[in-house]
Parts: sequence; C-alpha cells; structure tokens
Amino acid sequence: MTRIGVLALQGAFREHVHALSELGADAVEVRLPAELDDLDALVIPGGESTTVGKLMEIYRLTEPLRRFVAERPVLGTCAGLILLARRTTGDEQPLLGAMDVVVRRNAFGRQVHSFESPVELSLPGTDMEFSFPGVFIRAPWVEEVGPDVEVVATWEGHIVGVFQGHLLGLAFHPELTEDRRIHRFFLDMVEKESEAKLAAASVGA
Ligand code: GLN
Repeated sequence: MTRIGVLALQGAFREHVHALSELGADAVEVRLPAELDDLDALVIPGGESTTVGKLMEIYRLTEPLRRFVAERPVLGTCAGLILLARRTTGDEQPLLGAMDVVVRRNAFGRQVHSFESPVELSLPGTDMEFSFPGVFIRAPWVEEVGPDVEVVATWEGHIVGVFQGHLLGLAFHPELTEDRRIHRFFLDMVEKESEAKLAAASVGA
C-alpha cells in the first residue's frame, strides 16, 4: 500500500489525511525527522508558511525535508507551495527551495480572506484537462517559473498550479472539496515513481 506522509506541524493536514485515506492510501501524520524515512511521498498542507517554516526549524525538520523533496514525490498546497518555492516576492523566510518558482504570498489581496472559483487544470503526463473547484484561502500565486516548470493550473490568467519532475504545487486547497481527482492523480504519480525506482533498482542489481 502506498504510504504517504502529511506534514502535521500546523494547518489543514487532517483533511489531506482524510482525502488520501478515502482513496485507499496509508496516510500518516509527520512531525519528526525519523517519520520521513519509510514514506513513498509527502503532502505539505496549507496553513501559515512563516509559522510552518519556524516549526520546521524547531523540530529540526528543515534539512531532512530538503533532502526528501529533492528526491521523492511531494504535493504542496497553498502554504505548502510557498515552502516548496525557491523564493517569495516578500521578506525572507525559511523555504525548502525545491521548485524553480517565485511566489507572491496573499496575492489576491490581504482583505480577500477566502473564495471559491473554478480553476482550469491540465494534469501533466495525462490528457486530463478540466475545471476544478478552487478553494482559495489567503492564497499565493506564482509570478515566475523556471524552464523546467510546467504550469498546470490557472485562475483568470494567474498561475495557481505548477509541476516540476516529482513536485506538484497548488495555490488552492483540493482537500477542502469533495473532488478527489487531484489526490487521485497524485497517488497515481507516486505509484509510477515507485515502479520506476524498482525497475531501476532491478536493472542495477
Ligand atoms: N497566506 C498563507 C501564507 O502566506 C497561506 C495560506 C494557506 O495556506 N491557506 O503562508
């Protein structure tokens, strides 16, 4: 069974555990570096990225997480996307810096606390293009993408979803809807990644 960790320092982690469990994955909350060891993949949920960044340092998770996100599949939503980014347009804060993107925090205006609006989504490596119920909560958007980054979701012309190799970053909250297509896609992506690793290991053996 696919084992997915959900970083549970702060924010909407329970909802991701629920969504992934509904789809049959073994979803576990992660707070300690050692808990990263036997995971196939990780979800970094929404919350407050500065708080999560500070907690990562306190729990000595920053370096173990940097190593994890460099290699294994990760879904980052909202604050999770911010943490995956190489830079924000604002003040410095602890980031994992794994995705070649620059994000603007609270991009929809500080006064816009939350709203729901359809997002145009096109999932990488599939012919799946559809409109997804985007739940935005003090959300960021992506202002710059590097050459290896694929834009997978837009909202009114703004980039709200990016993909790079084994990393998927979304500005909105799929776990707060009943629509499981993004979590399903992520699980499929993780399975493909695990199969590819096994194949590579047996070739090397
Ligand atoms: N505004 C938050 C931040 O900048 C992100 C909000 C969220 O994750 N829902 O970290």
